[in-house]
Amino acid sequence: MPSVTVLDHPLIRHKLALLRDARTTSRDFKLLVGEIAALMTYEATRDLPTESIEITTPLETTRAEQVSVKLALVPILRAGLGMVEGIHQLIPSARVGHIGLYRDHDTLKPISYYFKVPTPVADHRFLILDPMLATGGSAIAAATELKKAGAREVMLLSLVAAPEGAAAFTAAHPDVPVYVAAMDRQLNEHGYILPGLGDAGDRIFGTR
Ligand code: URA
Repeated sequence: MPSVTVLDHPLIRHKLALLRDARTTSRDFKLLVGEIAALMTYEATRDLPTESIEITTPLETTRAEQVSVKLALVPILRAGLGMVEGIHQLIPSARVGHIGLYRDHDTLKPISYYFKVPTPVADHRFLILDPMLATGGSAIAAATELKKAGAREVMLLSLVAAPEGAAAFTAAHPDVPVYVAAMDRQLNEHGYILPGLGDAGDRIFGTR
């Protein structure tokens, strides 16, 4: 899977262990999701283009670099919302779009109910955020909708992936780089990732 990068930095692995632990509280879970998302973004944005600008320090005028592309974070509702705050602390200027997709519990297929992203779409680099890349259905649909809207640069950030979902996503969108913190073993019969961390949305928002 050439377009899938597993970001297994020691700090990410450490925080992921805490995240997986069933005893971790909702408050800590949310904090950890944000922290891991930020660490992942640091690595995933390594290739961002920069441009040279002139600035004046307290002592003299010099040249410096600034990122020359607009970034847009696009959480897939609702679990993706948990990744936004952490990344925003790193990139406060990033705009935020939203894609509403839920997984039908019987068919496991994504159903779209909301799509709103920053414009002009073609001027942004989009980071799709979804903590879990399980069947891949929601992420595939999100990338398809973004491309349909005119997005030219799209990336996917997921904390935990199943091999099935990663394979399905890269088959559907081979041009979209995927960054994950862990590639887990498999999906179970209910579409949950094993060993995984449970239902990310429920754990972030304390709904179970
Ligand atoms: N969504 C989740 O929140 N957890 C999984 O394991 C799979 C999909």
